[in-house]
Amino acid sequence: MALLYRPATAKVEVRIVKIISRNDWGAKPNKTKFSKLGEVKGLVVHWSAYPVAIGNQAEMDQCKQIQRLHQVDRGWNDIAYNFLVGDTGQIYEGRGFGNRSAAQGGNSRQEINYNNKHYVAVCWLGGSKPADQPSAEARAAISWLYEQVGGELRPHSSFKQTDCPGDAWRQWIIEKKTATIDELKKATNITAEDLSNASGAEMVHPQFIQKKLDTIIAKLENIENKLKLGRII
Ligand SMILES: [Zn+2]
Repeated sequence: MALLYRPATAKVEVRIVKIISRNDWGAKPNKTKFSKLGEVKGLVVHWSAYPVAIGNQAEMDQCKQIQRLHQVDRGWNDIAYNFLVGDTGQIYEGRGFGNRSAAQGGNSRQEINYNNKHYVAVCWLGGSKPADQPSAEARAAISWLYEQVGGELRPHSSFKQTDCPGDAWRQWIIEKKTATIDELKKATNITAEDLSNASGAEMVHPQFIQKKLDTIIAKLENIENKLKLGRII
């Protein structure tokens, strides 16, 4: 059965994303009932540390390989991640939305299992070499997931000492955050275009100022959601 999700926010181009269900990639059942996610704080990016899977079949095979590693070798309940993403841009269901991951490891916070309870985990199917680069499609798929999840966007290495998810993803996360900050800067500038569209009276008109302020507030709210940083990189 295919699971269909529609992005929550209206974009110029509405992208319907199909997530390959556990059944469709041949997952084994979870051993016991999943614990539920708590209040979601953000999305954490991981890599599998296996060679980059090329093509859908290899991606599904690697999902199975990771599930075996987690269920059999490590004795866990199930594959640790909520989702997995391949270079094809295809998203595979792991524990799915709403269930707690097992990917972020232990933590020093007061609440037991805090990092797994409050963060959705997505794993890119690659990363056996530090120089491995995710495809544009894989990045777009993780962007889409982040739009659904909201909150912080963090690399696994922001939680503990690990190379995961590699420099390419860490750089991408930084660039994504920088892009958001640039958007804010743009919103706070009254551009030449604004001036040419506004008459002299409008430029000092309260509504003109109000419009600018509304844009700034909307951007700030967006950033507040996305940049509740904690420790970033
Ligand atoms: Zn990781």
